[in-house]
Amino acid sequence: MCFSPLKNVQQDNPVEIAGAGPSGLAAALTIARRGGRVIVYERRSEVGSRFHGDLQGLENWTTEGDVLDELASIGIKANFSATPFREVVLFDPDGREHIYRSAKPMAYIVHRGSAAGTLDSGLRQQAVDAGVEIRFAESCDHMPRGGIVAGGPHGADAIGVGYLFDTDMVDGAYVALSNKLAPQGYAYLLIQGGHGTLMSWLYADFHNEQHYLERSLEFFQNRVGVNMKDPRRTGGAANFVFPRSAHKGKLLYAGEAAGFQDALWGFGMRYAMLSGHLAAHSLLTGEDYDRLWRKRLGGLLRTALVNRYIYRRLGDRGYELLLARIDQALRFKQDGRGWIHSYTAPRLWKRLCFPLVQRALPSHRPSLNVAVEGCDCTWCRCLHTLK
Ligand SMILES: Cc1cc2nc3c(=O)[nH]c(=O)nc-3n(C[C@H](O)[C@H](O)[C@H](O)COP(=O)(O)OP(=O)(O)OC[C@H]3O[C@@H](n4cnc5c(N)ncnc54)[C@H](O)[C@@H]3O)c2cc1C
Repeated sequence: MCFSPLKNVQQDNPVEIAGAGPSGLAAALTIARRGGRVIVYERRSEVGSRFHGDLQGLENWTTEGDVLDELASIGIKANFSATPFREVVLFDPDGREHIYRSAKPMAYIVHRGSAAGTLDSGLRQQAVDAGVEIRFAESCDHMPRGGIVAGGPHGADAIGVGYLFDTDMVDGAYVALSNKLAPQGYAYLLIQGGHGTLMSWLYADFHNEQHYLERSLEFFQNRVGVNMKDPRRTGGAANFVFPRSAHKGKLLYAGEAAGFQDALWGFGMRYAMLSGHLAAHSLLTGEDYDRLWRKRLGGLLRTALVNRYIYRRLGDRGYELLLARIDQALRFKQDGRGWIHSYTAPRLWKRLCFPLVQRALPSHRPSLNVAVEGCDCTWCRCLHTLK
Protein backbone atom coordinates (compact mmCIF):
# COMPACT_ATOMS: atom_id res chain seq x y z
CA MET A 1 0.00 0.00 0.00
CA CYS A 2 1.45 3.41 -0.92
CA PHE A 3 0.60 6.51 1.02
CA SER A 4 -0.03 9.76 -0.84
CA PRO A 5 1.16 12.50 1.46
CA LEU A 6 0.55 16.19 1.42
CA LYS A 7 3.22 17.17 -1.05
CA ASN A 8 3.29 20.92 -0.60
CA VAL A 9 2.95 22.09 2.95
CA GLN A 10 1.11 25.45 2.76
CA GLN A 11 1.44 28.39 5.12
CA ASP A 12 -2.34 28.58 5.55
CA ASN A 13 -2.61 24.83 6.04
CA PRO A 14 -0.44 24.06 9.07
CA VAL A 15 0.91 20.56 9.65
CA GLU A 16 -0.32 19.22 12.96
CA ILE A 17 1.88 17.11 15.18
CA ALA A 18 0.70 15.27 18.29
CA GLY A 19 3.45 15.23 20.92
CA ALA A 20 6.42 17.48 21.71
CA GLY A 21 8.93 14.73 22.48
CA PRO A 22 12.15 14.25 20.49
CA SER A 23 10.30 12.73 17.51
CA GLY A 24 7.60 15.42 17.33
CA LEU A 25 10.04 18.31 17.73
CA ALA A 26 12.48 16.86 15.18
CA ALA A 27 9.58 16.59 12.71
CA ALA A 28 8.42 20.14 13.48
CA LEU A 29 11.93 21.54 13.00
CA THR A 30 12.28 19.88 9.59
CA ILE A 31 9.02 21.36 8.35
CA ALA A 32 9.53 24.82 9.84
CA ARG A 33 13.08 25.13 8.50
CA ARG A 34 11.74 24.44 5.02
CA GLY A 35 9.18 27.20 5.36
CA GLY A 36 6.11 25.19 6.43
CA ARG A 37 3.74 26.20 9.22
CA VAL A 38 3.58 23.71 12.09
CA ILE A 39 1.47 23.36 15.21
CA VAL A 40 2.67 20.89 17.83
CA TYR A 41 0.14 19.81 20.44
CA GLU A 42 1.59 18.69 23.76
CA ARG A 43 -0.81 17.31 26.31
CA ARG A 44 1.45 18.18 29.23
CA SER A 45 2.32 21.71 30.34
CA GLU A 46 5.99 21.44 29.30
CA VAL A 47 8.32 19.40 27.12
CA GLY A 48 10.08 16.42 28.67
CA SER A 49 7.52 16.00 31.43
CA ARG A 50 8.01 12.23 31.43
CA PHE A 51 11.47 12.83 32.90
CA HIS A 52 12.96 14.88 35.72
CA GLY A 53 16.62 15.37 34.93
CA ASP A 54 17.26 11.68 34.14
CA LEU A 55 20.62 10.91 32.57
CA GLN A 56 20.17 8.96 29.35
CA GLY A 57 22.63 7.68 26.76
CA LEU A 58 22.37 8.98 23.22
CA GLU A 59 23.93 5.96 21.51
CA ASN A 60 26.86 6.54 19.20
CA TRP A 61 27.48 3.03 17.89
CA THR A 62 24.92 2.26 15.20
CA THR A 63 26.77 4.33 12.59
CA GLU A 64 30.47 4.71 11.83
CA GLY A 65 29.98 8.48 11.98
CA ASP A 66 29.12 10.47 15.07
CA VAL A 67 25.50 10.79 16.19
CA LEU A 68 25.87 14.56 16.75
CA ASP A 69 27.01 14.96 13.14
CA GLU A 70 24.03 12.95 11.96
CA LEU A 71 21.68 15.12 14.03
CA ALA A 72 23.35 18.24 12.59
CA SER A 73 22.74 16.84 9.09
CA ILE A 74 18.99 16.74 9.81
CA GLY A 75 19.02 20.25 11.28
CA ILE A 76 19.33 19.52 15.02
CA LYS A 77 22.06 21.45 16.80
CA ALA A 78 23.57 20.15 20.04
CA ASN A 79 22.34 23.11 22.13
CA PHE A 80 21.83 20.70 25.04
CA SER A 81 24.32 19.18 27.43
CA ALA A 82 25.90 16.12 25.74
CA THR A 83 28.88 14.61 27.54
CA PRO A 84 30.91 12.00 25.63
CA PHE A 85 31.43 8.68 27.44
CA ARG A 86 34.34 6.54 26.27
CA GLU A 87 34.42 3.95 29.02
CA VAL A 88 31.85 1.59 30.49
CA VAL A 89 32.26 -0.93 33.30
CA LEU A 90 30.15 -4.06 32.75
CA PHE A 91 29.45 -6.63 35.45
CA ASP A 92 28.60 -10.15 34.34
CA PRO A 93 25.98 -12.31 36.12
CA ASP A 94 28.66 -13.52 38.55
CA GLY A 95 29.64 -9.94 39.36
CA ARG A 96 32.95 -10.06 37.46
CA GLU A 97 34.05 -6.70 36.12
CA HIS A 98 34.80 -6.05 32.43
CA ILE A 99 36.02 -2.59 31.42
CA TYR A 100 35.48 -1.48 27.83
CA ARG A 101 37.06 1.62 26.35
CA SER A 102 36.83 3.32 23.03
CA ALA A 103 38.67 6.13 21.26
CA LYS A 104 35.43 7.63 19.92
CA PRO A 105 32.52 8.21 22.32
CA MET A 106 30.32 5.14 22.78
CA ALA A 107 27.47 7.41 23.83
CA TYR A 108 26.72 10.98 24.85
CA ILE A 109 25.08 11.38 28.22
CA VAL A 110 22.19 13.81 27.94
CA HIS A 111 19.73 15.10 30.52
CA ARG A 112 15.98 14.62 30.01
CA GLY A 113 13.15 16.77 31.34
CA SER A 114 11.95 20.34 31.25
CA ALA A 115 14.92 22.11 32.86
CA ALA A 116 17.52 24.18 31.00
CA GLY A 117 20.24 22.12 29.32
CA THR A 118 18.08 19.04 28.71
CA LEU A 119 17.65 17.49 25.27
CA ASP A 120 13.95 18.31 25.50
CA SER A 121 14.34 22.00 26.31
CA GLY A 122 17.10 22.32 23.69
CA LEU A 123 14.82 20.91 20.99
CA ARG A 124 11.95 23.11 22.15
CA GLN A 125 14.18 26.22 21.86
CA GLN A 126 15.31 25.29 18.35
CA ALA A 127 11.71 24.64 17.30
CA VAL A 128 10.45 27.94 18.70
CA ASP A 129 13.36 29.81 17.06
CA ALA A 130 12.38 28.20 13.75
CA GLY A 131 8.81 29.47 14.13
CA VAL A 132 7.06 26.33 15.39
CA GLU A 133 3.92 26.96 17.43
CA ILE A 134 3.69 24.63 20.44
CA ARG A 135 0.33 24.42 22.20
CA PHE A 136 0.92 23.08 25.68
CA ALA A 137 -1.74 21.36 27.77
CA GLU A 138 -3.62 20.42 24.59
CA SER A 139 -4.12 16.78 23.80
CA CYS A 140 -4.51 15.92 20.16
CA ASP A 141 -6.57 12.75 19.95
CA HIS A 142 -8.03 13.06 16.45
CA MET A 143 -6.40 14.49 13.35
CA PRO A 144 -8.96 14.38 10.54
CA ARG A 145 -6.71 16.45 8.22
CA GLY A 146 -3.80 14.11 8.86
CA GLY A 147 -0.42 14.89 10.38
CA ILE A 148 2.32 13.30 12.43
CA VAL A 149 1.60 11.24 15.54
CA ALA A 150 4.54 11.45 17.93
CA GLY A 151 2.90 10.68 21.25
CA GLY A 152 5.49 8.26 22.65
CA PRO A 153 5.00 4.71 23.93
CA HIS A 154 1.56 3.13 24.25
CA GLY A 155 2.31 -0.13 25.93
CA ALA A 156 5.00 -1.58 28.15
CA ASP A 157 7.30 -4.06 26.45
CA ALA A 158 10.00 -2.98 28.90
CA ILE A 159 9.93 -0.77 31.98
CA GLY A 160 12.58 1.24 33.78
CA VAL A 161 12.39 1.82 37.50
CA GLY A 162 15.02 3.85 39.29
CA TYR A 163 16.33 6.75 41.31
CA LEU A 164 17.66 10.17 40.36
CA PHE A 165 19.97 11.81 42.84
CA ASP A 166 22.69 14.36 43.46
CA THR A 167 26.12 13.05 44.30
CA ASP A 168 29.78 13.87 44.74
CA MET A 169 30.83 10.68 42.90
CA VAL A 170 33.12 10.98 39.88
CA ASP A 171 31.63 10.57 36.41
CA GLY A 172 31.18 6.97 35.27
CA ALA A 173 28.94 4.47 33.49
CA TYR A 174 28.30 1.04 35.03
CA VAL A 175 26.07 -1.71 33.69
CA ALA A 176 25.16 -5.00 35.39
CA LEU A 177 23.83 -7.87 33.29
CA SER A 178 21.94 -10.23 35.54
CA ASN A 179 18.45 -11.64 35.71
CA LYS A 180 18.59 -11.21 39.48
CA LEU A 181 18.80 -7.43 39.04
CA ALA A 182 16.71 -6.98 35.90
CA PRO A 183 15.01 -9.94 34.22
CA GLN A 184 16.11 -10.15 30.57
CA GLY A 185 17.38 -6.59 30.90
CA TYR A 186 20.11 -4.82 32.82
CA ALA A 187 20.72 -2.45 35.68
CA TYR A 188 22.76 0.70 35.20
CA LEU A 189 24.31 3.52 37.11
CA LEU A 190 25.26 6.75 35.34
CA ILE A 191 27.09 9.57 37.07
CA GLN A 192 27.73 12.87 35.33
CA GLY A 193 28.51 16.32 36.68
CA GLY A 194 27.22 15.70 40.20
CA HIS A 195 24.01 13.98 39.05
CA GLY A 196 23.21 10.29 39.10
CA THR A 197 20.65 7.90 37.63
CA LEU A 198 20.32 4.33 38.85
CA MET A 199 17.88 2.18 36.94
CA SER A 200 16.71 -1.38 36.68
CA TRP A 201 15.49 -1.90 33.11
CA LEU A 202 13.17 -4.93 33.03
CA TYR A 203 11.73 -6.97 30.18
CA ALA A 204 9.76 -9.37 32.38
CA ASP A 205 8.27 -9.74 35.87
CA PHE A 206 7.20 -6.08 36.00
CA HIS A 207 5.13 -6.64 39.14
CA ASN A 208 8.29 -7.12 41.21
CA GLU A 209 9.87 -3.88 40.01
CA GLN A 210 10.54 -2.58 43.53
CA HIS A 211 12.34 -5.76 44.47
CA TYR A 212 14.65 -5.50 41.42
CA LEU A 213 15.33 -1.84 42.04
CA GLU A 214 16.35 -2.47 45.63
CA ARG A 215 18.59 -5.36 44.55
CA SER A 216 20.21 -3.18 41.88
CA LEU A 217 20.83 -0.42 44.39
CA GLU A 218 22.39 -2.88 46.81
CA PHE A 219 24.56 -4.32 44.02
CA PHE A 220 25.96 -0.96 42.95
CA GLN A 221 26.39 0.13 46.57
CA ASN A 222 28.56 -2.93 47.16
CA ARG A 223 30.52 -2.72 43.89
CA VAL A 224 30.82 1.00 43.19
CA GLY A 225 29.86 2.67 46.47
CA VAL A 226 26.80 4.76 45.55
CA ASN A 227 26.46 8.02 47.37
CA MET A 228 22.92 9.37 46.88
CA LYS A 229 21.78 12.79 48.05
CA ASP A 230 18.14 13.75 47.74
CA PRO A 231 17.06 10.55 45.91
CA ARG A 232 13.87 10.82 43.81
CA ARG A 233 12.03 7.98 42.10
CA THR A 234 11.88 7.85 38.31
CA GLY A 235 10.97 5.39 35.60
CA GLY A 236 8.74 4.74 32.64
CA ALA A 237 7.83 2.34 29.88
CA ALA A 238 9.03 1.59 26.37
CA ASN A 239 7.43 -0.26 23.52
CA PHE A 240 9.04 -1.70 20.46
CA VAL A 241 7.58 -3.22 17.38
CA PHE A 242 8.52 -3.57 13.75
CA PRO A 243 5.41 -2.18 12.09
CA ARG A 244 4.38 -3.42 8.68
CA SER A 245 3.58 0.21 7.97
CA ALA A 246 4.05 3.37 10.07
CA HIS A 247 1.09 5.24 8.66
CA LYS A 248 -2.61 4.90 9.07
CA GLY A 249 -4.64 6.80 6.52
CA LYS A 250 -3.34 10.38 6.60
CA LEU A 251 -1.43 9.89 9.86
CA LEU A 252 2.31 9.23 9.93
CA TYR A 253 3.64 7.69 13.14
CA ALA A 254 7.10 8.61 14.42
CA GLY A 255 9.27 7.65 17.39
CA GLU A 256 7.89 5.28 19.98
CA ALA A 257 4.34 5.97 18.82
CA ALA A 258 5.30 3.82 15.84
CA GLY A 259 7.16 1.33 18.02
CA PHE A 260 10.57 2.62 16.83
CA GLN A 261 12.69 1.72 19.80
CA ASP A 262 15.85 -0.30 20.28
CA ALA A 263 14.36 -3.62 21.41
CA LEU A 264 17.69 -4.84 22.70
CA TRP A 265 18.60 -2.13 25.21
CA GLY A 266 16.01 0.67 24.94
CA PHE A 267 18.11 3.39 23.29
CA GLY A 268 15.20 5.04 21.52
CA MET A 269 16.11 8.74 21.41
CA ARG A 270 18.11 8.57 18.20
CA TYR A 271 15.43 6.56 16.40
CA ALA A 272 12.81 9.02 17.64
CA MET A 273 14.55 12.08 16.16
CA LEU A 274 15.47 10.34 12.92
CA SER A 275 11.97 8.97 12.33
CA GLY A 276 10.41 12.36 13.15
CA HIS A 277 12.65 13.95 10.57
CA LEU A 278 11.83 11.26 7.99
CA ALA A 279 8.06 11.60 8.56
CA ALA A 280 8.33 15.36 7.99
CA HIS A 281 10.53 14.84 4.95
CA SER A 282 7.90 12.50 3.53
CA LEU A 283 5.18 15.11 3.99
CA LEU A 284 7.29 17.75 2.31
CA THR A 285 8.51 15.75 -0.64
CA GLY A 286 5.92 13.08 -1.23
CA GLU A 287 8.48 10.31 -0.75
CA ASP A 288 7.00 7.17 0.75
CA TYR A 289 7.50 7.26 4.53
CA ASP A 290 7.59 3.48 4.89
CA ARG A 291 10.39 3.27 2.35
CA LEU A 292 12.34 6.03 4.13
CA TRP A 293 12.21 4.60 7.67
CA ARG A 294 12.80 1.04 6.48
CA LYS A 295 15.93 2.14 4.65
CA ARG A 296 17.42 4.00 7.63
CA LEU A 297 16.01 2.11 10.62
CA GLY A 298 14.61 -1.19 9.36
CA GLY A 299 17.80 -3.24 9.58
CA LEU A 300 18.63 -1.93 13.03
CA LEU A 301 15.13 -2.57 14.36
CA ARG A 302 15.16 -6.13 13.04
CA THR A 303 18.60 -6.88 14.44
CA ALA A 304 17.67 -5.50 17.86
CA LEU A 305 14.58 -7.72 17.99
CA VAL A 306 16.59 -10.81 17.03
CA ASN A 307 19.27 -10.00 19.62
CA ARG A 308 16.56 -9.48 22.23
CA TYR A 309 15.04 -12.84 21.43
CA ILE A 310 18.41 -14.54 21.88
CA TYR A 311 18.82 -12.85 25.30
CA ARG A 312 15.35 -13.92 26.32
CA ARG A 313 16.01 -17.54 25.43
CA LEU A 314 19.47 -17.79 26.96
CA GLY A 315 19.05 -15.72 30.14
CA ASP A 316 22.22 -15.21 32.22
CA ARG A 317 24.05 -17.75 30.03
CA GLY A 318 23.42 -15.38 27.10
CA TYR A 319 25.02 -12.49 28.98
CA GLU A 320 28.07 -14.62 29.79
CA LEU A 321 28.45 -15.61 26.14
CA LEU A 322 28.04 -12.01 25.06
CA LEU A 323 30.76 -10.74 27.39
CA ALA A 324 33.08 -13.61 26.44
CA ARG A 325 32.65 -12.64 22.78
CA ILE A 326 33.39 -8.99 23.51
CA ASP A 327 36.50 -9.88 25.53
CA GLN A 328 37.71 -12.09 22.70
CA ALA A 329 37.10 -9.43 20.05
CA LEU A 330 38.86 -6.76 22.09
CA ARG A 331 41.97 -8.91 22.42
CA PHE A 332 42.36 -8.61 18.64
CA LYS A 333 41.37 -5.48 16.84
CA GLN A 334 38.15 -3.83 17.87
CA ASP A 335 37.55 -1.36 20.64
CA GLY A 336 34.32 -1.31 22.68
CA ARG A 337 32.41 0.94 20.29
CA GLY A 338 33.53 -1.05 17.24
CA TRP A 339 32.32 -4.26 18.83
CA ILE A 340 28.88 -2.92 19.73
CA HIS A 341 28.65 -1.46 16.23
CA SER A 342 29.16 -4.85 14.61
CA TYR A 343 26.91 -6.64 17.12
CA THR A 344 23.98 -4.29 16.47
CA ALA A 345 24.55 -3.97 12.70
CA PRO A 346 22.18 -5.76 10.30
CA ARG A 347 23.31 -9.27 9.29
CA LEU A 348 21.85 -11.62 6.72
CA TRP A 349 21.31 -14.48 9.19
CA LYS A 350 19.49 -12.14 11.58
CA ARG A 351 17.29 -10.94 8.76
CA LEU A 352 16.45 -14.53 7.89
CA CYS A 353 15.57 -15.34 11.54
CA PHE A 354 13.46 -12.22 11.87
CA PRO A 355 10.03 -13.55 10.76
CA LEU A 356 10.22 -16.32 13.40
CA VAL A 357 11.38 -13.89 16.08
CA GLN A 358 8.63 -11.44 15.27
CA ARG A 359 6.02 -14.11 15.96
CA ALA A 360 7.69 -15.09 19.21
CA LEU A 361 7.98 -11.52 20.54
CA PRO A 362 4.53 -9.93 20.33
CA SER A 363 4.48 -6.23 21.22
CA HIS A 364 2.04 -4.63 23.64
CA ARG A 365 1.69 -1.75 21.21
CA PRO A 366 -1.72 -1.83 19.50
CA SER A 367 -0.92 -2.65 15.90
CA LEU A 368 -1.40 -0.06 13.18
CA ASN A 369 -1.70 -2.80 10.62
CA VAL A 370 -5.32 -3.57 11.33
CA ALA A 371 -6.63 -0.01 11.64
CA VAL A 372 -10.30 0.66 11.00
CA GLU A 373 -10.74 2.30 7.63
CA GLY A 374 -10.98 6.09 7.97
CA CYS A 375 -9.85 6.12 11.61
CA ASP A 376 -8.08 9.39 12.47
CA CYS A 377 -7.47 8.75 16.14
CA THR A 378 -3.90 9.17 17.30
CA TRP A 379 -4.02 6.61 20.07
CA CYS A 380 -5.75 3.90 18.12
CA ARG A 381 -7.61 2.26 20.97
CA CYS A 382 -10.44 1.97 18.48
CA LEU A 383 -8.59 -1.00 17.04
CA HIS A 384 -10.29 -3.04 19.71
CA THR A 385 -13.65 -2.42 18.09
CA LEU A 386 -12.52 -4.69 15.28
CA LYS A 387 -13.10 -7.71 17.46
C1 LIG B 1 13.26 5.19 32.16
C2 LIG B 1 13.67 5.36 30.72
C3 LIG B 1 15.02 5.44 30.39
C4 LIG B 1 15.39 5.59 29.06
N1 LIG B 1 16.72 5.68 28.74
C5 LIG B 1 17.10 5.87 27.46
C6 LIG B 1 18.48 6.00 27.12
O1 LIG B 1 19.37 5.91 27.98
N2 LIG B 1 18.80 6.23 25.81
C7 LIG B 1 17.84 6.34 24.83
O2 LIG B 1 18.19 6.55 23.66
N3 LIG B 1 16.54 6.21 25.12
C8 LIG B 1 16.15 5.98 26.41
N4 LIG B 1 14.82 5.87 26.71
C9 LIG B 1 13.84 5.91 25.61
C10 LIG B 1 13.58 7.35 25.16
O3 LIG B 1 13.28 8.15 26.27
C11 LIG B 1 12.41 7.36 24.17
O4 LIG B 1 12.65 6.40 23.16
C12 LIG B 1 12.16 8.71 23.53
O5 LIG B 1 11.88 9.71 24.47
C13 LIG B 1 10.98 8.58 22.57
O6 LIG B 1 10.67 9.85 22.03
P1 LIG B 1 9.23 10.12 21.44
O7 LIG B 1 9.24 11.49 20.91
O8 LIG B 1 8.86 9.02 20.54
O9 LIG B 1 8.23 10.00 22.70
P2 LIG B 1 8.20 10.79 24.07
O10 LIG B 1 9.55 11.20 24.51
O11 LIG B 1 7.40 9.94 25.01
O12 LIG B 1 7.35 12.10 23.75
C14 LIG B 1 5.98 12.01 23.45
C15 LIG B 1 5.28 13.30 23.88
O13 LIG B 1 3.96 13.30 23.36
C16 LIG B 1 3.05 13.75 24.34
N5 LIG B 1 1.75 13.19 23.98
C17 LIG B 1 1.36 11.90 24.04
N6 LIG B 1 0.13 11.74 23.52
C18 LIG B 1 -0.27 12.98 23.12
C19 LIG B 1 -1.47 13.47 22.51
N7 LIG B 1 -2.49 12.66 22.18
N8 LIG B 1 -1.57 14.79 22.24
C20 LIG B 1 -0.54 15.62 22.56
N9 LIG B 1 0.60 15.21 23.16
C21 LIG B 1 0.74 13.90 23.41
C22 LIG B 1 3.66 13.24 25.64
O14 LIG B 1 3.19 14.01 26.74
C23 LIG B 1 5.15 13.41 25.38
O15 LIG B 1 5.61 14.69 25.77
C24 LIG B 1 14.40 5.69 28.04
C25 LIG B 1 13.05 5.62 28.39
C26 LIG B 1 12.69 5.45 29.70
C27 LIG B 1 11.22 5.37 30.04
